[in-house]
Amino acid sequence: MKLPKVVTIAGSDPSGGAGIQADLKVLTQFGVYGGAAVTALTRQTSAGVLGLFPLPAEWVLEQVRDVLWDLRPPVVKTGMLQQPGVIGGLGRLWGEYVREYGKTGAHVPYISPSAEPVPSAPVLVVDPVLSSGTGVSLLAGGGLEAFREDLLPVTTVLTPNVPEAEALTGIAIRDSDDMVGAAERLLQFGVQWVLLKGGHLPEWEGVRIADLLISREERRWLWGQRVPGADLHGTGCSLASALAACLALGLPVPEAAARAVEWLRQRIGSPLFVGQGRGVVCQKL
Ligand code: PLP
Repeated sequence: MKLPKVVTIAGSDPSGGAGIQADLKVLTQFGVYGGAAVTALTRQTSAGVLGLFPLPAEWVLEQVRDVLWDLRPPVVKTGMLQQPGVIGGLGRLWGEYVREYGKTGAHVPYISPSAEPVPSAPVLVVDPVLSSGTGVSLLAGGGLEAFREDLLPVTTVLTPNVPEAEALTGIAIRDSDDMVGAAERLLQFGVQWVLLKGGHLPEWEGVRIADLLISREERRWLWGQRVPGADLHGTGCSLASALAACLALGLPVPEAAARAVEWLRQRIGSPLFVGQGRGVVCQKL
């Protein structure tokens, strides 16, 4: 049997609604095996981030190397990378991993001869986390430059929200035309696909909102209904993990994005209120 696998590279959220804890729960719900390399510890509750303790960049990169060379996941997902040294180092490590994966084959030791062929190149899903939903910075100085120079050129699917796309491109986004402009700019940095999440756009508050999926050849709007009153924790991490899971299950990017967005919309409609703060979407009980 083919064993779908994703490794997430992200921060720890002890309240379990975001970060690696959320990523692993989402992967499990999709029937995908998850590994996790931790970039930083946070002190955090369901109400917000209280503190950040980054691990040394070299040590983070050694963790990533160890686990990629061992598990050989066809899909890797990044969340809070936090330090420019981690972002830049991962960009360089990714090139090495692509070559290694091409030599030895994905998770070939784990599949039967009758299984479908695995992707010939591994896929990198990057959620360019800048800050928490409550406004705490989760990216150190120099991080944007490191994204643009080292990680975007090797990214398969980038999943920014509007503030993240604005910060990466310098383009102010007010409407759907600006979304297209910013997404096209992100493609110019070398990203293969951009899933630009439109949920922050105030003009669309209370009405239909759309996410934009774009590549050099394709452009699709993923329409949905905003769920009233939703102030939730971990939506970005959960969406990127759902997308990574669908890619590991063999779906092409447009189908994987549509399925992940639809899954998140359902989860937003029935969050779990696990603590004193915001509801979480990463798990269904
Ligand atoms: N904590 C960690 C470790 C994260 O990676 C993120 C977002 O990516 C957050 C907290 C913030 O989550 P939210 O914006 O949903 O509060």
